[in-house]
Amino acid sequence: MVDSILSHALNTHPKEAILLLRGKKERDEILINEIVVPPLATHGAGFSAFPSYMLPIDLRVMGVSHSHPSGILKPSVHDLNHVYGRIMVIAAYPFQSYSDVAVFDKDGSRLRWQLISDGQPDSH
Ligand SMILES: [Zn+2]
Repeated sequence: MVDSILSHALNTHPKEAILLLRGKKERDEILINEIVVPPLATHGAGFSAFPSYMLPIDLRVMGVSHSHPSGILKPSVHDLNHVYGRIMVIAAYPFQSYSDVAVFDKDGSRLRWQLISDGQPDSH
């Protein structure tokens, strides 16, 4: 999962990559088990967006992951004004390790995250 986010970000670099994160909320935890390339995503240098009104209402979407080719591992003001879902995942250049990935809530506070192995391949 995290590997997919990193490799997608790397493949899209130097443009920004954007992915939808599907999963479920359990008590105070959010479990992400699927990542989806959003329909009609547009990529530009330093900006990525998709028209959220074009998306089907999908309650499984818990948030959005996008990349920061700048290497800055925190949300921009623009990001915080355009939060979609409950969480925001940012992958920062150079997209090499898990320390290049951070998770934030809609207020921009950094959240703890961990990989959960359930015996399934984790990279789809
Ligand atoms: Zn951003």
